[in-house]
Amino acid sequence: MRLLIMGPPGAGKGTHAGALASLVGGPHISTGDLFRDNIARRTELGRLAEKYISAGEYVPDEITDDMVRDRLGRPDAARSFVLDGYPRTGAQVAALDALLDARGTGVDGVVALTVPDDELVARILRRSAVSGRSDDSEDVVRHRLAVYADQTAPLVRAYGDRGLLHRVDGTGSMEEVRLRVESAVAAAAGPDA
Ligand code: AMP
Repeated sequence: MRLLIMGPPGAGKGTHAGALASLVGGPHISTGDLFRDNIARRTELGRLAEKYISAGEYVPDEITDDMVRDRLGRPDAARSFVLDGYPRTGAQVAALDALLDARGTGVDGVVALTVPDDELVARILRRSAVSGRSDDSEDVVRHRLAVYADQTAPLVRAYGDRGLLHRVDGTGSMEEVRLRVESAVAAAAGPDA
């Protein structure tokens, strides 16, 4: 099963994507983690991505699409995967559609976590104390939320138009959200799964 997990920064995508990946039996692929790993290893890709990430901007589509194409081409992602934080732009949606179409497959479901903006900012500022992430300061967080609202929220609605969207309330305890996410995946898998 091929799933996307979407939602604004701080909604808990990374936290819940791992459990989702075990559920579908495929890898958890986070573009943010892939970029951060490249930055830590000082690769050429990391060097290219770093300035955008620190400013709270999206990394250009071609760079991101190439990285995702490479990752999805690995054998562990042949049948099932959970993509976390991709696609984030209309061009990335088109690139993912083309990639999966060429394999004769497509996205099976989209889990979108919803959390009010004020709670998102509070969560990320708490996380910043331990994450050491260069993009977790208040100014950058507010900018990331604005970029999300402008570029990515419309894509979530577009997946709704395709009948693939499962919105999940991302507030409450981790366990409560996990159970809601699991029900959404069961719904995405359909009655025969
Ligand atoms: P995340 O860990 O998903 O919050 O991603 C951290 C940062 O990595 C984002 O704020 C972007 O700068 C960059 N990033 C992650 N995924 C993408 C993507 N699909 N397209 C462009 N930039 C991305």
